[in-house]
Amino acid sequence: MKLIALGSPGVGKGTYAKEIIQKYNILHLSTGDMFRENMKNNTELGIKAKEFINQGKLVPDEVTIGMVKERLSREDTKGGYYLDGFPRTIPQAEALAEFADIDRVINFKADHEVIIQRLSGRRICKQCGAIFHTINIIPKVEGVCDSCGGELYHRDDDQPESIKKRLQVYEEETKPLINFYKEKGILKEVQVNEDFGKNKELMLNRIFTAIDNN
Ligand code: AMP
Repeated sequence: MKLIALGSPGVGKGTYAKEIIQKYNILHLSTGDMFRENMKNNTELGIKAKEFINQGKLVPDEVTIGMVKERLSREDTKGGYYLDGFPRTIPQAEALAEFADIDRVINFKADHEVIIQRLSGRRICKQCGAIFHTINIIPKVEGVCDSCGGELYHRDDDQPESIKKRLQVYEEETKPLINFYKEKGILKEVQVNEDFGKNKELMLNRIFTAIDNN
């Protein structure tokens, strides 16, 4: 199964990944995670990406497409994947169509206030990238990852100015992908307004139904 997760920053694409990849036995490929890993290791790609990411802008298409194309050429992707955060522009979607056959695109939808609340309270594990939230997905020990014991941090681009910019970029550059995939007949929409920490089963059921039903 080859899936794309579409939807605004903060809608929960990364949060739902764990259960989705487990159920379909596929890889979680997040371009945001790939960039963050490169930034942490100060690679050439990471240094290039950082100036865009911290301002809430998109990393240029040629850089992002090259990175994803290389990743998808590896053997371990043959069994399927959940693409989280890619594509984000029409040129990225057109490029992807040349090197991948996508089965289903899930467009996650939540209200604006819900998105803002999720982004501003989000905390990430420095070590494994697991996602928590100060109100919705509270770690057992404050500031510590439940999965690996790593330290939790507030992403630089989850600060108010970057959030505003990222949501504007989403409206202008990424939203057109909804129609792009609707026209291809592979898009499913899933409403995810509820708090995932409290309504996990219900929300996962909705997501799995969207993935499974033609
Ligand atoms: P995310 O973790 O998906 O919110 O991504 C964090 C940041 O990485 C985004 O705000 C962009 O600056 C950059 N990024 C991630 N995916 C892409 C993409 N497909 N195209 C361009 N920039 C991206």
